Amino acid sequence: MKMIKDYEMVIGLEVHVELKTKTKIFCNCKTDFGAAPNTQCCPVCMGMPGTLPVLNKKVVEYAVKAGLATNCQIASFSKQDRKNYFYPDLPKAYQISQYDLPLCEHGWLDIESEEGTKRIGITRIHIEEDAGKLVHDDELGTLIDCNRCGVPLIEIVSEPDLRSAEDAVAYLKKLRAIILYTGISDCKMNEGSLRCDVNLSIRKKGSEKFGTRTEMKNLNSFAFIAKAIEYEYKRQVEAVEAGEEIVQETRRYDPASGKTYQMRSKENANDYRYFPDPDLPGIVLGSDKVNEIKKSIPSLPDERKTQYVSEYGLSPYDAEIIVSELFIAAFFEEAAKNTHHKKILANLLISELPRLVSQDSETVAADPVLFSEVAEMLGEGDINSSTAKKVLKEVITNNADPRKFVEENGLMQINDDSVLKKAAIEAVSENPKMVSDYKAGKAAAFKSLMGKCMQKTAGKGNPVKLTAFLEEELSK
Ligand code: ADP
Ligand code: MG
Ligand code: ZN
Repeated sequence: MKMIKDYEMVIGLEVHVELKTKTKIFCNCKTDFGAAPNTQCCPVCMGMPGTLPVLNKKVVEYAVKAGLATNCQIASFSKQDRKNYFYPDLPKAYQISQYDLPLCEHGWLDIESEEGTKRIGITRIHIEEDAGKLVHDDELGTLIDCNRCGVPLIEIVSEPDLRSAEDAVAYLKKLRAIILYTGISDCKMNEGSLRCDVNLSIRKKGSEKFGTRTEMKNLNSFAFIAKAIEYEYKRQVEAVEAGEEIVQETRRYDPASGKTYQMRSKENANDYRYFPDPDLPGIVLGSDKVNEIKKSIPSLPDERKTQYVSEYGLSPYDAEIIVSELFIAAFFEEAAKNTHHKKILANLLISELPRLVSQDSETVAADPVLFSEVAEMLGEGDINSSTAKKVLKEVITNNADPRKFVEENGLMQINDDSVLKKAAIEAVSENPKMVSDYKAGKAAAFKSLMGKCMQKTAGKGNPVKLTAFLEEELSK
């Protein structure tokens, strides 16, 4: 375990995103997820000889959106190439992709990490077609479903700039957020519309030279990605320490065992015998067109984040959480219109998120105006933070009016100095053991005494004032 600290991991990600176009990349077949097998295909996407592909313009537009949203340069000329391989899920025996002239290059995005903001390079984004799906059946054997053949994809390749599992997950979450904002994909990892290949190598800390990488294919959850990275890192360190050499290969992560296994030794680009697809003309994009696409992109996570930090005083970390989903950012902004206390609003929102957003839902389960009133009352000192929690629960479960609820239940914060001072005096005189513990240096005793003060005010005392009065009494 000690030696693991002598190394660092180097990670680069390849992310495939299915685009939300109505039809496929080279034909008019539909792209709906979950349709009955082989009901959304035609001779073109099934790779019949003699058919001709026609590029769907939307695919280019969407890929350019992704590129602009990740600070890429958009190529005025790019082309499509055939990547040849034999796979049973690809009847054509080649995939139309982009090789040396991709649509987008030289981009980046920023992530928040423990060491602060990190800029992660994006090498390229290119367009390509998805392959079909193999269905393994106990009785019938292996079957093929061609519905996914020709569904448009973009592949987003990062520079090897990531240094931990946390970095990798933060990058993916950021990328996902950006793509969701642009509206070009639903990014559902469980339906395969966002899939990730993890390339990982190790090197001694302080060394510049990269080690040999392995690639783990098609990871489909943030949790698996983090686990696969931790496992693979440890495996490589142990191998190197044992004097073994890391071989460039493709590995499979098995969620059940938490381990990675070798699938095949890694192919190189020349194994695919790439060549320009003779059926497709080059893609020419004028700056007018690119600017037009640019205008259609809404305010992106970083722009909103900057605003939250500079205008509302949020920390970059908190702002990042709120912008991670467009619907959460929209809820926050709607609520923020109603309160001066935006930072308090953000804190309440973040701490209540697990109750407000259920898995797979794309809404915040509360009324933003009612929610903001709780922040306003808390910020104005009308209620204290434990009351705020109670009130929020009522807002979330019963759509309660916060002010009414507080009044009807007598939950207004007690700010009256004489009442609070009395509570502190009584707490001290009635609990000599706690007082002596406190004086003997036990910090926890102060908390217990604060608890007594709160009890005396039925949980409604102003905690800042109570703390001051209690400290005053204890210093006597
Ligand atoms: P391929 O298409 O063969 O997988 P690419 O050149 O497109 O190869 O690179 C794939 C990914 O591997 C990129 O995300 C890149 O950042 C990453 N990568 C390259 N070299 C290393 C390395 N030594 N360690 C970790 N990741 C690497
Ligand atoms: Mg790869
Ligand atoms: Zn088709």
